[in-house]
Amino acid sequence: MKGFADKPNYIIELLEGSVTLEDVIDGHICEQTVMEKSAFVVGDLGALMQQHACWQSVVPQVLPYYPVKCNSSPVVIEVLASLGLGFVCANKAEVSLVLEHGVPPENIILSSGFKQLAHIKYAAKNNIQHLVCENEAELSKIARLHPNAKLLLQLTTEAQAAENSMAFGFSLKNCRHLLEKAKDLGIDVVGASFHIPSSCEDLQQAYTHALSDARCVFDMGLDLGFNMNILDIGGGFTGSEYQLKQVESAIRTLLDAYFPQLSGVQVLAQPGSFYVASAFSLAVNIIGKKIKTQSWNCLSQGEKREDTEFLYYMNEGVYGPFSHKLLGNTIAAPSLHKHALCAEEAVYPSSLWGPSLDQLDQVVEHCLLPELNVGDWLIFSNMGTCGLEDLSCLSSSIDFPVYYIISTSDWYKMEEAGVALNNPIKNFSMLQYSA
Ligand SMILES: *Cc1c(COP(=O)(O)O)cnc(C)c1O
Repeated sequence: MKGFADKPNYIIELLEGSVTLEDVIDGHICEQTVMEKSAFVVGDLGALMQQHACWQSVVPQVLPYYPVKCNSSPVVIEVLASLGLGFVCANKAEVSLVLEHGVPPENIILSSGFKQLAHIKYAAKNNIQHLVCENEAELSKIARLHPNAKLLLQLTTEAQAAENSMAFGFSLKNCRHLLEKAKDLGIDVVGASFHIPSSCEDLQQAYTHALSDARCVFDMGLDLGFNMNILDIGGGFTGSEYQLKQVESAIRTLLDAYFPQLSGVQVLAQPGSFYVASAFSLAVNIIGKKIKTQSWNCLSQGEKREDTEFLYYMNEGVYGPFSHKLLGNTIAAPSLHKHALCAEEAVYPSSLWGPSLDQLDQVVEHCLLPELNVGDWLIFSNMGTCGLEDLSCLSSSIDFPVYYIISTSDWYKMEEAGVALNNPIKNFSMLQYSA
């Protein structure tokens, strides 16, 4: 973690009138065309605020705690902190980043499966009381180094276990034992936490199981004399309003039944992708092209056919901003920058590759695109959780600029919501951007 003094100055471009994200991308493409044609990222801060407005209108009873690991750009942290979100940190560096942005320690949760001793000590020293914990060994460490901690016990969910056999959390059958152990060690337990991944298909069933299990944890905790008052329903919100509404309808009656508002239980969630995914777009340049033709006999028509596939090589791949492809994620086909749009409507099977010529460096396996040329630009949207800000930290060496924008109308709304980014101490400055 760098100190504030060596941090770059984040420039946020304030878009005048009708200037759009596309205009900004276009402007930077023109700039890059005379420069090196480097890939670049544009982050729309207005999108963060719109997602927040959506959250508040659909699930106003659930407090959002943003998991910093999803995107730790200081600009994102600053905006979300000003909007009043809490934060979920996985380590000391994340805690210190969030504290630097003035977030009160009571709005921070330290959550990770296995915590380094130094990180637990750091939390204790900085009054971060809420820690997520899932096993006995962690309990002992916390009891020793942070005896005033208030724990949220992490339950596994079936939905999570289906996705990852190493799922974080304890099963209900170990719950009593864990709670008794906490009692013996004299540590306070204040609630339960679970996570349902966004890949979950049957939301109703997943939340029904998870919330009834959480209710059991609360009952056992109350039985042992703990004051159970925080329920954390985790992440798994894709970012679409539609999916958020589905979750809301899956949890509404369950919350009313198991955790009614009158019971004084505070319900919180960890929306990460939800807030940041759609806010960031990545523009990459095509640096190479190959044509692969395959002929085959079409039996039904008794003729020989030829298939053409275009292979495009881009200046960034899985060893850069598309690294989540290596984790098994699918990357959606990009859109074309308007200069690449041709009058001809025909599209061809295409695949998109990074620059390394490594078999693994395939970014998009198959998509349909018009024929493109070397030098054309592709725009990937929904790139907010791809660690782009980490790449930008290296921007002096690998030249990977990140531009932040906000439209004037979003800016006014943001100011109304109490966000003030033009604070020179925080290394932000605003620039007017007109077309
Ligand atoms: C990453 C993570 C989240 C948020 O992820 P989403 O992409 O928003 O689902 C929430 N909770 C935990 C414990 C995480 O590790």
